[in-house]
Amino acid sequence: MRLQGKTILITAAGQGIGRASALACAREGAQVIATDIRADLLERLASDSASIGSLETRVLDVRDAAAIARLAEALPALDGLFNCAGYVHSGTVLDCDEQAWDFSFELNVRGGYLMTRAFLPGMLDKMARQGTTASIVNMASMASSIKGFPMRFAYGATKAAVIGMTKAIAADYARIGLRCNALCPGTVDTPSLRERIAASADPVQAEKDFIARQPMGRLASPDDISPQVVYLLSDESRFVTGQAVLVDGGVTI
Ligand code: NAD
Repeated sequence: MRLQGKTILITAAGQGIGRASALACAREGAQVIATDIRADLLERLASDSASIGSLETRVLDVRDAAAIARLAEALPALDGLFNCAGYVHSGTVLDCDEQAWDFSFELNVRGGYLMTRAFLPGMLDKMARQGTTASIVNMASMASSIKGFPMRFAYGATKAAVIGMTKAIAADYARIGLRCNALCPGTVDTPSLRERIAASADPVQAEKDFIARQPMGRLASPDDISPQVVYLLSDESRFVTGQAVLVDGGVTI
């Protein structure tokens, strides 16, 4: 049980990587608080996790500062926080109007900032009281400061910002044992990826194109990514902080 005794909150846990990570953390003995904006997805997660471990669900919009503050007040202090919520805007700079730019930054960057600002004081207090360490994992992407991809203008900009935010938090708190890392997956087969493929002009070709850029010849599944989340939230990664951790099947070799 690699996360025994740890209380871990995950955003966007209703589907995709967040859901797989919530289940993986519960299996490793964590007390998981799985949050998402969609209650229906959380209900399904709660029923699927019933026999696995300790997992409670809360509806939470990571753009809502007041709701985040209320939740931080209501919950016990965390040992781990996985800021997973994010959105992919498809397009070039010329396809990106100000609304799309603002929404991308509001969800992908400001959401993680609001969550961290609200939950970090409790984490630091618990660390000081109990002599423990704590870990924050922020969801970035290989499409970021790591590598540019076509049609990922706003998305790449936000995920680069997530990596910058991660390094700044890591630098501020490394001395006292609070670690912060950015997770950078490749292309993962999740419901929103399926929506992006379905929305393209030629969905069959779009899926082939996604797979063609994968040296391993396949997309990742959420379960290819969740072990890295468990590792970064666990004490096994106790000497790892400020890193942009790639799990991309070799795309950036
Ligand atoms: P997804 O996009 O299929 O699901 C996203 C989840 O976020 C949904 O459950 C949705 O209800 C929730 N959500 C949406 N708005 C929210 C809000 N305002 N507050 C809280 N929750 C909200 O899942 P995914 O594809 O696994 O993506 C999760 C994260 O992983 C995102 O940050 C994404 O950018 C990142 N990522 C995904 C891939 C990929 O290929 N799928 C690759 C790299 C990084």
